[in-house]
Amino acid sequence: MMGRITSRHEDYSQWYLDVIREAELADYAPVRGCIVFRPYGYAIWENIQAAVDRRFKAHGYRNAYFPLFIPYSFIQKEREHVSGFSPELAVVTIGGGETLEEPLVVRPTSETIIGYMYAQWIQSYRDLPLRINQWCNVVRWEKRTRPFLRTLEFLWQEAHSVFATYEEAEEEARRVLDLYTDFAVEDAAIPVIQGRKSESEKFAGALRSYTIEAMMGDGRALQSATSHNLGQNFSRAFEIRFLDAGNQMQYAWTTSHGLSTRMVGAVIMVHGDDRGLILPPRLAPVQVIVVPIWKSEEERSRVLEACAQVRRMLEPEIRVEVDAREEYTPGWKFNEWELRGVPLRIEIGPRDVAERQVVLARRDQPGPQGKWAVPMEGLLGAVHEALSTIQADLYQRALAFHKAHTHYPETYNQLREAVADGFAWAWWCGSPECEARVKADTTATNRCIPLEQPDGRGRCIVCGEPAAEMAVFARAY
Ligand SMILES: [Zn+2]
Repeated sequence: MMGRITSRHEDYSQWYLDVIREAELADYAPVRGCIVFRPYGYAIWENIQAAVDRRFKAHGYRNAYFPLFIPYSFIQKEREHVSGFSPELAVVTIGGGETLEEPLVVRPTSETIIGYMYAQWIQSYRDLPLRINQWCNVVRWEKRTRPFLRTLEFLWQEAHSVFATYEEAEEEARRVLDLYTDFAVEDAAIPVIQGRKSESEKFAGALRSYTIEAMMGDGRALQSATSHNLGQNFSRAFEIRFLDAGNQMQYAWTTSHGLSTRMVGAVIMVHGDDRGLILPPRLAPVQVIVVPIWKSEEERSRVLEACAQVRRMLEPEIRVEVDAREEYTPGWKFNEWELRGVPLRIEIGPRDVAERQVVLARRDQPGPQGKWAVPMEGLLGAVHEALSTIQADLYQRALAFHKAHTHYPETYNQLREAVADGFAWAWWCGSPECEARVKADTTATNRCIPLEQPDGRGRCIVCGEPAAEMAVFARAY
């Protein structure tokens, strides 16, 4: 039977863990900090993958796969990269019972090994641009972990591209950021802020890092995807060079881009409520659950026949399942599918069969106001319409929450209050000291310098010096 879900108001962190357990998204593995993706959680990830993969392919990327093991010396070749990743590395020193001549790193990210291969594949400007994506697992030895958000091993895509000029690499970093934004908004129904990472928050080895930051249901930020202009840092470290049209040898310009299983955590935290998950229809493994309601044997066969008919009408366009289990009551099933976040429920009872209709119930609007009868004729159209309304409403609801918890403090004290509630947009002079002070005083970090800036200039919220840009400060996962 279903266990209890802590209310979000009572303890948001516990609510998150309860939902993951009760909806059977993931379970803890025997190794601390690792999780098992259970089928329902993995199915959400598969839908995220499909939506992101389709966009990368439309953008000219092809998929490939690079090895899990990276020679230790590779990680050391780029100065910032090694210092950024060293504390989190998992290193293999023994293989086949023998001490290895050179230790192997379990990839924390693949810039180095891909750079090594690209150096061999790229000779001339005719080989550029090169765009490759891979879906894989990576390992980062994190101290504090939380399912989907921060685990020792996680799944992601990492795209790596190479260009002849700085301008093309910079444009790519921004275009892929737009790609991620489009996915977040259109498929995950999550509003995001596009921004640039500060020097202290950028990717280890990047020239410039871009991010999309989303607000979770407790007002905290989640970095949801990143896109990096790596400049020539990795091409110099790995000798990725090409002969340009004038027969001159040049170092190439590279980029990398990643979105991970954190996105599953974002979907849970942005949309869920005290009953459990609420999945945006585009990512839901089951979009419509059909629940038959009957009392007598005679009713049973008529109702089940109508359910089968509904299923035939909706498939294959709609991901639909019929819950015909006899050992559970309809009320129990309603609760279970609500907990699992299925966007739309179809109820069919004897009276509905007689009247050639079904009852639709929206997950995002529990109770009578989210329930209405629809004729069997034209049901497919009505379901499509309901799902797209739910998809749009989830985005609008998340956007309203994001706006309600976004503040524009003018004093340092106001900043402290603002980050206790949500996001704080504040003028920042750009100094790492001011950024560090906010972190030390409030535990909020500089999430990004938004690409869309207000007009004018201001004074740094910390030191009062002139500031040309606003930054978003927030506590983050
Ligand atoms: Zn300052």
